[in-house]
Amino acid sequence: MRIHNVSPAEAFSDAGREYRASEPGAPVRCCLRKSLPDEPVWLMRYSPSNGKGPYSEVGPIFVHVDCPDEPSLDRLPVELLNNPRILRSYNAAGQIHDGEVVEPGSFDRAIEESFNNPTIESLQVRSLSHGCFYFGITRA
Ligand SMILES: [Zn+2]
Repeated sequence: MRIHNVSPAEAFSDAGREYRASEPGAPVRCCLRKSLPDEPVWLMRYSPSNGKGPYSEVGPIFVHVDCPDEPSLDRLPVELLNNPRILRSYNAAGQIHDGEVVEPGSFDRAIEESFNNPTIESLQVRSLSHGCFYFGITRA
């Protein structure tokens, strides 16, 4: 699989972004972990690229102002998967195919089952409580 994170430079495309000098524990979508107390972050609007047309959505995400880490994009970011999440699948036209709640420890199996369906082109991992986008997944 291939993980798709969000570049911190995306923050500059949202004029309404908010600077947070300290927002510890925020799930940052650049390096795909929780922020630390001394790491300033942007809170910004973001639209994941795999939803198209009426399935295009905009929602709030956090990214580092100065991202200190390079995430591994060939394996799941375990620090963001220690709670149940929504796994949403999209077809090549950018329409939602399905959505399911996935428990910690079950992500690899759920992702493999989704990609066994050839009509599914990409996946999104989202927060269960707020629905916020965490990261995207495609086949490697
Ligand atoms: Zn980061």
